[in-house]
Amino acid sequence: MTKRYLLRTFGCQMNEHDSERIAGLLEADGLEKTSDASEADVIVLNTCCIRENADNKLYGTLGHLHSLKAGRPDLEIVVAGCLAQKDREAIVERAPHVDVVLGTHNVHRTVELLEARRSSGHQVVEILEASTADDQELFPSALPVVRERGHSAWITIQVGCDNACAFCIVPAVRGPEASRPFGDVLDEVRRAAAEGVTEVTLLGQNENSYGRDLALRLRAAGEADAPLDEQHLAGGAWVADRRARPLFADLLRAVGEVPGIRRVRFTSPHPKDLREDTVAAMAQTAAVCEHLHLPLQSGSDAVLAAMHRGYTAERYLERLTTARRAMPDLAVTTDVIVGFPGETDDDFDQTLEVVAEARLDSAFTFVFSPRPGTEAATMDAPAVPHEVAVERMAALRQVVERSSLLANQARIGRTEEVLVEGPSRRDPSRTSARTRQHRLVHFDADRPLRPGTYASVEITGASTTHVLGGLVEVLDVPRHRTRIPVVAG
Ligand code: SF4
Repeated sequence: MTKRYLLRTFGCQMNEHDSERIAGLLEADGLEKTSDASEADVIVLNTCCIRENADNKLYGTLGHLHSLKAGRPDLEIVVAGCLAQKDREAIVERAPHVDVVLGTHNVHRTVELLEARRSSGHQVVEILEASTADDQELFPSALPVVRERGHSAWITIQVGCDNACAFCIVPAVRGPEASRPFGDVLDEVRRAAAEGVTEVTLLGQNENSYGRDLALRLRAAGEADAPLDEQHLAGGAWVADRRARPLFADLLRAVGEVPGIRRVRFTSPHPKDLREDTVAAMAQTAAVCEHLHLPLQSGSDAVLAAMHRGYTAERYLERLTTARRAMPDLAVTTDVIVGFPGETDDDFDQTLEVVAEARLDSAFTFVFSPRPGTEAATMDAPAVPHEVAVERMAALRQVVERSSLLANQARIGRTEEVLVEGPSRRDPSRTSARTRQHRLVHFDADRPLRPGTYASVEITGASTTHVLGGLVEVLDVPRHRTRIPVVAG
């Protein structure tokens, strides 16, 4: 009988991407996907330690699975992802019923580790601390993949981070920054396009610095007897100028030229590293969408310094002005943390001012909560009382929502190109889609449209979270095979 797996993903897009690879490996090993835990033979929890209460959620889920496994001893439980990377001993101690614990650099070994568990009869833990830039295991591009959306692909261009933001656990669990060879990224994009993918999102922790390590490595190896493949590692534009510089702008241009790719997105750039050549590449490459997610985190220079963000509020706004000058129809979204240790009323007022001045299209807002293992968890600065942080959050949401509503209302009367995601979750008679600016659109159509369809839609209404509209015409039909129906909200 065919075995089934259930895969639950917590956290960020990098984790979603790893989950697609784990699903691909399990399916290549003959397993079928299920969403019902009671019929799963293998349950994989791909964990994240960035979000609040991640460990409580994991141990809560593992407690539930303990009961399930008591009745079905053959059930195999795998814990993967960055919480596994960080807390392996705790998982082993608190959840001995887990069969396999694997780290962020071990995704490609999922099937082998399950096999090792079966043959040894013992719990298997495999965590690689970090890999070298030569290590192809860093970027599991050759692994099979099961995409949640057949028309859209995430492409990892970089892993790890060399920054040290005080609130962030990523450098500890994903290791130092390492860029994927330029040619490998392009090969994966070309393969995805050949499978019918038309939209790619480039993933990295600090994408503007993509390739700096590759350029430095090539310059250092310049005199070596056996020269490296420069074109493959760093791309043709670098070979022409050989400067020690990031290669992200070159990469955006090259990905945007791959035949079949209509939309290129990326997340997340760091404000301190947003260079003019990146902005120019965005503006000059037709496929690159008019959307910039630029995490602000705080509008107070004192708080930004305590966070080690490496920019001031003024510098952040200058970067936005430069980007908007080059792309007048640019949508801007951000992340903001409220209640960072030591944040005063004055600091928070500055955040409100900067958020209002930035004219954001939307923002992810978070109340600070300390993550064990980060600098912010042990700071001497006074903690902001929870009720104060909650009040500040409410005030911030008001400013963000006012700004979102204005931005959405400004689209009324326009005709926009949208990429269909599927029927709306709230009202399945409507179709949900995204504009190039990543704005959510619910629109009326006189026929069902498959996910991946491009259409033009006239915008007729707006709220804080989305715009409404009506179908004008279908522009392009999807070329991928639909595996999983997508319901969007
Ligand atoms: S730039 Fe800062 S927030 Fe982003 S991954 Fe690196 S350390 Fe974390």
